[in-house]
Amino acid sequence: MTKKCVRAIFPGSFDPITNGHLDVIERGMKLFDELIIAVGRSPVKNQLFTPEERVEMIDELIREKKMTNISVESFEGLTVGYATGKKADVILRGLRSLTDVQYEFQLAMTNRAVAGIETIFIMTSEQYGFTSSTLIREVASLGGDLSKLIPNNVYERIKKHLKE
Ligand code: ADP
Repeated sequence: MTKKCVRAIFPGSFDPITNGHLDVIERGMKLFDELIIAVGRSPVKNQLFTPEERVEMIDELIREKKMTNISVESFEGLTVGYATGKKADVILRGLRSLTDVQYEFQLAMTNRAVAGIETIFIMTSEQYGFTSSTLIREVASLGGDLSKLIPNNVYERIKKHLKE
C-alpha cells in the first residue's frame, strides 16, 4: 500500500505568533508531510502587526529553526476556500481550554459541512495553556515581560514597535 502524503494548513491570525502556536506547529510537523502556516488577512481587533509583518516573523522562525516541509503565506477570505485551493487534506488547529473547544467544534463542523475538509486538533502544552495573542498584545502595550511567552524575534519587533 502506498503511503498517503498529508498536506495540512494551520490557519490563524498569528498577531503575533506565540510560543503556544510554535509548540502546535512543532508537534504538527511530526504528523504531516507538509504544513502550511496560513496567516489570515481579515482585519483583527486592535491589530499589532500587518499580515506582511506576521508572515515575515514566522518565516524568520522557520529559517532559524531550520524547519523543513513547512512554509508560511497569507490568505484572504474563507479558510476553506484557501484550503481547497491549496489541495490541503486537513486543517490543523490548537486547543487550550473548553472555551476553545466550543468555538472550534462549531468551526470544524461548519468547515466540514461546507467543504468536506477535516480538522485535526493538537492540545496545548500545559505551560502555554493561558497564552493568547490577544493577551500578548495587551501585556505588550503595558510594557510587561513577555520573554517566556513569545519567540525572541517577535519580542524584539514588539519593543521596536513600542518605541516608534
Ligand atoms: P484565530 O484568530 O483564527 O483563532 P489565532 O492566531 O488566535 O487565530 O490562533 C490560531 C490557532 O492556534 C487556533 O486554533 C488557536 O486555538 C490556536 N492557539 C492559539 N494559542 C494557542 C496555545 N497557546 N496553545 C495551543 N493552541 C493555541
